[in-house]
Amino acid sequence: MIDMKDVHKKYPNGIMAVNGINVHIKQGEFVYVVGPSGAGKSTFIKMMYREERPTQGDIVVSGVNLAKLKNNRVPYLRRNIGVVFQDFKLLPTLTVYENIAYALEVIEEQPKYIKKRVMEVLDLVGLKHKARMLPNELSGGEQQRISIARSIVNTPKVVIADEPTGNLDPETSWDIMNLFEEINSRGTTVVMATHNREIVNTIKHRVIAIENGKIVRDEQRGDYGYED
Ligand code: ADP
Ligand code: ADP
Repeated sequence: MIDMKDVHKKYPNGIMAVNGINVHIKQGEFVYVVGPSGAGKSTFIKMMYREERPTQGDIVVSGVNLAKLKNNRVPYLRRNIGVVFQDFKLLPTLTVYENIAYALEVIEEQPKYIKKRVMEVLDLVGLKHKARMLPNELSGGEQQRISIARSIVNTPKVVIADEPTGNLDPETSWDIMNLFEEINSRGTTVVMATHNREIVNTIKHRVIAIENGKIVRDEQRGDYGYED
């Protein structure tokens, strides 16, 4: 599903954010990415959806070599990868429905199918009744549910999340985790960078720890392992 071989990322300022990573993530796995701030977690994750390009090495996601992928193919790739951010990144002038429908409209799905599919994912995240609202009329937890609905509307094989509970209170964070569990239980691979020790130590999954741009630990059903 995701294969990285000898991946390096050196930013133009000379910082080597990722310094020789080899990893294989299978279809259906749930992987937490942990480590101190500045360790390279975001860079590692961003390379999986080609937000950043490796400066050395190969990354293959669902059979596509992202290191070699031409820029004009990136939009096609993104259709097969769902992404969830800490700050939601919903479009503020579009309704909840429109935010989710957008991903299907750009690929010119049938209007009838779009309506059915958007209501389906809204139902999955429990927010069908908020379809007509604007993002800023919703709580943070609700906005994150909408962004999760948006991430899966194209039925991607993998969902990548960068600190999805970072802006949420503990109770809301558990609700959001239950959604990711539900998505993963349907066979979708989930890769999640997180600082949430409670969650990592309670909902057990594979843990990849990154420090100074390298994987320092990779354990099935691992612990968070840091005090922060
Ligand atoms: P998927 O992850 O899509 O389920 P597979 O598990 O079948 O795919 O593995 C895809 C390919 O990656 C296989 O050829 C497998 O041998 C190879 N592979 C498995 N483990 C690793 C690893 N740790 N590093 C690199 N390649 C691996
Ligand atoms: P983490 O997600 O673990 O906090 P990052 O991947 O964001 O780590 O950052 C790893 C290192 O790369 C840090 O030293 C950071 O300052 C640097 N870095 C991140 N993004 C950029 C960028 N766009 N340009 C230059 N340096 C960056």
